[in-house]
Amino acid sequence: MTETIYFDYNATTLLRKEVQNLILSMPLIPYNCSSIHRYGRESKKILSDARSKISSLLNLSDQYQIIFTSSGTEANNLALKNLEDKVIITSPTEHLSVLNSLERANHEILEVSNNGIINLKQYEKLLSKYQGKAIVSLMIANNETGIIQDIKLLTQLAHKYDCLFHTDAVQAFGKMPIDIEDLNVDFITLSSHKIGGPLGAAALIYKKSINIKPLINGGGQEQNLRAGTENLSSILGFAKAVELTLGELDSYYNHTSTIIHYLETNIEAISKEVVIIGKNIPKLSNTLCFTMPNVSSYIQVINFDLEGFAVSAGSACSSGKIKASHVLSSMGYPEEIGSSAIRVSIGLNNTLDEAKLFIKKWKEIYNRLSIKNEAA
Ligand code: PLP
Repeated sequence: MTETIYFDYNATTLLRKEVQNLILSMPLIPYNCSSIHRYGRESKKILSDARSKISSLLNLSDQYQIIFTSSGTEANNLALKNLEDKVIITSPTEHLSVLNSLERANHEILEVSNNGIINLKQYEKLLSKYQGKAIVSLMIANNETGIIQDIKLLTQLAHKYDCLFHTDAVQAFGKMPIDIEDLNVDFITLSSHKIGGPLGAAALIYKKSINIKPLINGGGQEQNLRAGTENLSSILGFAKAVELTLGELDSYYNHTSTIIHYLETNIEAISKEVVIIGKNIPKLSNTLCFTMPNVSSYIQVINFDLEGFAVSAGSACSSGKIKASHVLSSMGYPEEIGSSAIRVSIGLNNTLDEAKLFIKKWKEIYNRLSIKNEAA
């Protein structure tokens, strides 16, 4: 069987070889950072070095504290299920780890434009309504569309009204420059497996002047804020992945934007009916969300899989039914667009030749399935 070409880097990335080697080079000793004995002390040193390394790579002053969690999902939950007396202001295009954390909380959902951008007028109105009583949660870049929000401005506005600001940077981190001190966010979520680090490690970075409490109770790990024996090898790998990722931001941008530009222009050349989501809006350089007119996302994903490409549906498939993506429907796209969109998200390992092959396959699938549609 030929190898599948991976165009689904926003779902997860390939573990970096250097990270794998580093983990494999860890001496075989028992790693529990809470133990008092020598092994415990050695474990604690690895943990504290990883935390200091990430802190210094991100140029964090000591106003910020890093809490390691098991996933970006957990970090988002930790930020949002904490301040129960606050109203959560968020957007309908957030990841489900944010939207599904709102169930029991007082919350307000902002409107977004057809381009997925926050309605600033409504935002400021809500901030003034909940002055001093809200926490805002808005992502830097969307996982399905790659659309980027102006987080610095949104944070400034939140602070103007004495509200706190959390940003989910799980997709943006490692794909664009992020200066946490300059953004001045109160909480930010990062996840290791989106940047070539291992699964099982992520972080909530927050201003330690804010009083938060743990979501998971138990021992006193992570300054009493996240109980559970630390996943040391993943945290070590996470810190290494942060170092490698930040060292290649420029080449990442140049490489991925060239390939995405090629894909976008060539797909548009095949069919004028294609809708590119967030066209001409600032987007992640590695992400392209677009429709294949009249062909469901699910059918596209299966056909691309058969042709040797791993891509993702912009829509969720649950209990056998294809549901249009909540992101695209909240941007005002009708069902036929939402349910015919796929997401291509690439990485440094992808090549222009792979993109050329993808265009060839896209054309073939489009011609084949549209003929079937007509015959039906
Ligand atoms: N936030 C965004 C924007 C994501 O894309 C994802 C994962 O896809 C998450 C949060 C959840 O991160 P994790 O997979 O580490 O739980």
